[in-house]
Amino acid sequence: MTLSSDWIERGEKHIASTYGRYPLVAVRGEGCRLWDVEGKNYLDFLAGVAVNNLGHCHPKVVAALREQAGQLLHCSNYFHIPPQIELAEILCEHSFGDRVFFCNSGAEANEAAMKLVRKYSAEKRGDGCFEVITALASFHGRTIGTISATGQDKIRAGFSPMLRGFRYVAFGDVQALEAAITPSTCAVMLEPVQGEGGVNVAPPGYLAQVREVCDRHDLLLVFDEVQVGCGRTGTLFAYQHDGVEPDIMTLAKALAGGPPIGAMIAREEVAAAFTPGSHGSTFGGNPLMTAAAVAAMKTLIHDGILENCVTMGDYLASRLREFRERYPFIKTVRGRGLILGMELDFAGAEIVHKALQRGLLINCTADKVLRFLPPLIVTREEIDEGLDILDEILSEI
Ligand SMILES: *Cc1c(COP(=O)(O)O)cnc(C)c1O
Repeated sequence: MTLSSDWIERGEKHIASTYGRYPLVAVRGEGCRLWDVEGKNYLDFLAGVAVNNLGHCHPKVVAALREQAGQLLHCSNYFHIPPQIELAEILCEHSFGDRVFFCNSGAEANEAAMKLVRKYSAEKRGDGCFEVITALASFHGRTIGTISATGQDKIRAGFSPMLRGFRYVAFGDVQALEAAITPSTCAVMLEPVQGEGGVNVAPPGYLAQVREVCDRHDLLLVFDEVQVGCGRTGTLFAYQHDGVEPDIMTLAKALAGGPPIGAMIAREEVAAAFTPGSHGSTFGGNPLMTAAAVAAMKTLIHDGILENCVTMGDYLASRLREFRERYPFIKTVRGRGLILGMELDFAGAEIVHKALQRGLLINCTADKVLRFLPPLIVTREEIDEGLDILDEILSEI
């Protein structure tokens, strides 16, 4: 058996050091559990950063991958691909959307959205109309385009010059947003719940007000649901809590239940700005990933997963709020469904490390916010087990 320390040493020699990695060498997952190379298991309340919404290796996703892998892996988008078509049908049937562009990641889905808003607006309103308003503390990806869209200095630092045409406003402040509109503005792009920015839920009524402002100024509204779409908040898509429909939505992370995929969904009139040659992706919508995503979406919709997310989300939130009563260094508990954040009055990295040593995986965003993203299939017993570990750590502070 190879020891964890051997893998870690080898990895540190040849893997680009773009991540501060935890000392865990992951080799197997099942349900809410992850195993390391030495056979130790961890309760996984990170879920691959909101990717493993159905838990690790959901049998229906694995079966779909196995079946499709023996049939056809890749053929290019010059041909029609049945699982890609089925997936588009499912996404449109259950959302505001009419057409889907498939790609391979969240950043690519947002790139597609940013290209579409430019093309649509240039055709409709003229060439100078390309600015996009996004939020402070947002996160839209790591490409040059999407870091330009991201309202966090630390993510843009060192990569100048940025793409032109982005303005950032405080999340939740509709007056600030309206004040930032210029004759060049063509769209607003927001996460209904900011994930990386510290689990910030849009305040009640905010998204509806943004929709109204967009309509009044003839702007497109884009929701980045890469992290909070696909059931994470207890509805299939996070915008459904607010009864507000965007013109474009982006998805990725949990869409295929683990394998990489991205999607940009738009309503017909907007989608029509993309014509043959406008955009593309070699791997986008390939048979293997879309077959997995069809299985993942059907499971999410038909197997009671959303209901479990709501029930367990309420339970986890109520237990975290109990902690706030007992531990004065906890400032707030917030979130929706099974994306929950616990803001501390100090940096959370140490707690994350201690939790890992004791068999619980969580992470920390925006420095002080412990983030809980368990698989949506999590049970009450698993939540109790995880929170007992956390309680022990908090009690030692
Ligand atoms: C993770 C994330 C992205 C980027 O997705 P990648 O697949 O890493 O490119 C974009 N937007 C949001 C809201 C995300 O959480």
